[in-house]
Amino acid sequence: MDTTRYDYIIIGSGIAGLNTALLAAEHGSVLVVTKGRIDDCNSRYAQGGIAAAIGPGDSATLHERDTLDAGGDATGAREAT
Ligand SMILES: Cc1cc2nc3c(=O)[nH]c(=O)nc-3n(C[C@H](O)[C@H](O)[C@H](O)COP(=O)(O)OP(=O)(O)OC[C@H]3O[C@@H](n4cnc5c(N)ncnc54)[C@H](O)[C@@H]3O)c2cc1C
Repeated sequence: MDTTRYDYIIIGSGIAGLNTALLAAEHGSVLVVTKGRIDDCNSRYAQGGIAAAIGPGDSATLHERDTLDAGGDATGAREAT
């Protein structure tokens, strides 16, 4: 049986997985594994750019509130958010 070895195995091909894969590729070989097509992920559908709490004065709490204001609360997804 042939065996291929990788230094890093990333599960998921969304923005989190691909960003991690790019960083990991600076240190070794990378395999990205996903449950479906490589472009079938939520990141593909983010139409407004990816929002994240990284600016000065920003916080996870403000990010959560913005997310809920943008529609999460309307779907009853407060706990998931
Ligand atoms: C319609 C829509 C619009 C959006 N618009 C915005 C926006 O404008 N701005 C914004 O900031 N955010 C938006 N979002 C949210 C944003 O897309 C997500 O928060 C973000 O893409 C999540 O990235 P991720 O890499 O964590 O997950 P995903 O992009 O969901 O990637 C998850 C990956 O994991 C894989 N995976 C899952 N389960 C398994 C398993 N069991 N085994 C193997 N692989 C698995 C999936 O196949 C996929 O490749 C939107 C989401 C949707 C659905």
